[in-house]
Amino acid sequence: MPRKRKLLLLGGTGEALRLARELEGNSRVHCISSLAGRTEEPVRPPGEVRIGGFGGVPGLTTYLMNEAIEMVLDATHPFASQIARNAHDACLKLGIPRAKLVRPPWSPSPGDRWTIMPSISAAATFLRFHPARRIFLTLGRQELGPFVPLGEEGERNGSARWFLTRMIDPPGDGIRLPRGEIVLGRGPFQPEEEKALMQKHQIDMLVTKNSGGAAGKIAAAAELHLPVLMIDRPPLPPGEILDSVGAALAWINIYAV
Ligand code: NAP
Repeated sequence: MPRKRKLLLLGGTGEALRLARELEGNSRVHCISSLAGRTEEPVRPPGEVRIGGFGGVPGLTTYLMNEAIEMVLDATHPFASQIARNAHDACLKLGIPRAKLVRPPWSPSPGDRWTIMPSISAAATFLRFHPARRIFLTLGRQELGPFVPLGEEGERNGSARWFLTRMIDPPGDGIRLPRGEIVLGRGPFQPEEEKALMQKHQIDMLVTKNSGGAAGKIAAAAELHLPVLMIDRPPLPPGEILDSVGAALAWINIYAV
């Protein structure tokens, strides 16, 4: 029987999970899924899984050598720019083939009220000068800091912002949250439930990263004609870009001969 090729699959996304499922039992590829370990109860991919950071480029380089990894598929989130850069640098150093699987971004349809923001802090600054008062924040719990002052400023004259903040796990101690309410949940969410949530909380602005993929909130905001602050993606490292699980499987097959 031919030797299986060792693939490191950098994950933490639905696409990585689907890819690991597709590769389960593959006779030519041994897939090791890697998760950062941020969520308390991640959906565990089938096959071998490792959890936690590698320790920057040096740690990742050592890992790739020790495990004799022969290809790296970076299927991390489009906003996970540090691990993407680290994977690029480590693979370049070792001459290991690497590609980035990244789902296409959302783009506005006619009538959508998007304002594109270059960063999360730029979105918070923009909000300071915007009349929206009840804001739906769909960002990570580590990304909420710039919005905290907006919930405090203007409390005396009633102009302070109120935030509906959605996250997967409860925020835990030591995280400062913007004034308002937290809603816990793991997507994908259907447009109808998103619309009902926005209406229930009288939301007048959505703030989201341009993650791409299934997007009930985008459809709901469009239907409610709500303004959206769309945070633009960080640049990707140079190298091959794959835009679907099918394309990623085809890429893996090239190196699995
Ligand atoms: P990041 O800023 O690019 O990475 C920060 C550090 O976390 C990396 O330097 C690495 O630590 C570790 N890391 C990240 N992804 C890893 C992986 N798959 N396996 C092992 N270590 C990993 O990443 P992030 O934005 O914090 O995202 C963390 C994870 O959550 C990623 O797996 C990503 O796919 C997922 N995720 C992110 C978002 C988002 O909006 N950013 C949304 C949904 C899911 P070391 O330097 O120690 O190796």
